[in-house]
Amino acid sequence: MSEIIKKPQSYFKLPPNLPDYADFYHSFRWSDIDEEIEFPETDKTALYWEGKNGEKKQFTYKELGALANGFSKFLTEELGIEKGDRVFFFLPRIPELYYGALGAVRAGAIVGTLFAAFGTQGAFERLKNSGAKVLITNSELRERIRGVEKDLPELKEVVEIENLGLGRDNLSRGVIPRGNGPAIMMYTSGTSGTPVRGMVLPYSALAVQKLTAQWVLDLHPEDVYWCSADPGWITGIAYGIFGGWLNGVSSVVYEGRFSPEKWYEILERYKVSVWYTAPTALRMLRGAGDELAKKFDFSHLRHICTVGEALEPELVFWSQKVFGIPAHDTYWQTETGAMMLCNFISEPIKPGSMGRPVPGVEAAILDDDGKEVGPNVEGDLAFKSGWPSQMIDVWKNPKRFQSYFKGEWFITGDCAYKDEDGYFWFVGRADDMIKTAGERVGPFEVESALISHPDVVEAAVVGKPDPIRGQIIKAFVVPARPGLANLEETLKQHVKKTLAGHAYPREIEFVQELPKTKSGKIIRRLLKT
Ligand code: AMP
Repeated sequence: MSEIIKKPQSYFKLPPNLPDYADFYHSFRWSDIDEEIEFPETDKTALYWEGKNGEKKQFTYKELGALANGFSKFLTEELGIEKGDRVFFFLPRIPELYYGALGAVRAGAIVGTLFAAFGTQGAFERLKNSGAKVLITNSELRERIRGVEKDLPELKEVVEIENLGLGRDNLSRGVIPRGNGPAIMMYTSGTSGTPVRGMVLPYSALAVQKLTAQWVLDLHPEDVYWCSADPGWITGIAYGIFGGWLNGVSSVVYEGRFSPEKWYEILERYKVSVWYTAPTALRMLRGAGDELAKKFDFSHLRHICTVGEALEPELVFWSQKVFGIPAHDTYWQTETGAMMLCNFISEPIKPGSMGRPVPGVEAAILDDDGKEVGPNVEGDLAFKSGWPSQMIDVWKNPKRFQSYFKGEWFITGDCAYKDEDGYFWFVGRADDMIKTAGERVGPFEVESALISHPDVVEAAVVGKPDPIRGQIIKAFVVPARPGLANLEETLKQHVKKTLAGHAYPREIEFVQELPKTKSGKIIRRLLKT
């Protein structure tokens, strides 16, 4: 096993929120939590926003609250949104998405987001399954769905954000509802059967997001915090919107695309002190060379966490070298609603390990019969059901929802093992789900997009290990005829346009046939390398 990173007292620029993990873990009960989930209404900066063309905007907590309430009133009073109605956002990382989501939650709507890279089919499937009543988008993204709006009978209003003039002076104050009613709906892709699954999270998930942001991200009100995840994914909502603001920090949002220079510049310019990012981003920064990093000042950075894919030990050490602090791996999934296994700031890091369960969560490794196995034995990673951020439903799919449970355990679909010190180590997925650059993609949806092209007879899609992106999407395609010119590029563009820009196969191999079971099911396992 690799070396353990211990932190001297001088490591801590602020006293950790969770100074003694073991002690707190043993004494903490969810019933102890005070359910207050609101953010302050002060003149402190809540959001530093930088647009893709360098435009800058700043909002105080008071302004943000007013905008959220204005949005909330617009939904309820002008569009007739009632409790439980689905309101979806299809927007890039602009301020309206951030305070809009907050306003929609306060309005009692079930809030969903669509990653702005989705194409027509990807967006359509999700809007259709959710029965969304209102879609908030912009004129550019609207074009992707205009042609299919007529096939979405439940969609009553499509609002283009450019036409919505909300002021910062709306003084009424709404509140975030409490309890286990539905608050957030996040779509993830399945590996077979129904291509999309709407995971529903309760209001109480917000309370857990707030607490875990304190315990794990160690957020203090004086922090400048950057969660670089897009709100099209659960991390971008749970910790990019709620976890930060509920703890009163100043959040940074950068609308533009990734580039090593730009990301270093953001860390420096805004004096980011806590950063929640993805291993792929660290791999890309590392790939850009340490000379570039040396041009920037990271002295304000005091804590780095990552999520979404395995964090290799090399990256933990590289982070220590370049930023002066090691990256801390965290593990969770859309279904768990909040962080589950983590490396805590006050605790030693075992590089390569996902860490230990957050207080209130019981984690275990189970065998095929659902029995707990001993240390260092691989099995299904599971959590004892009943933590307050756990998903409460898979929308319109009770069978799929039930499939996650084995007795009192919630099965994650990930394989892992636990060492003798109680640290968990990631082994791999138990199913065919692909994680590319930290983004979750189901092979079935990509296969469906490929097959929708007339020159494709059959397709099978797998995740191929990749040194930068963790995995890339690789497709095996049986073409309709041999010798079709430019088919590879045509198919890539086709998937980008119909399904999503992030879900296209970077590699395509043309084959004459695909390996299948006797019943005709594609055996993806045989195609993985
Ligand atoms: P998502 O629902 O998009 O957040 O994806 C959740 C999945 O990402 C998990 O089930 C894992 O397969 C993977 N994942 C998340 N965090 C980690 C991590 N720290 N190490 C390894 N895999 C992870």
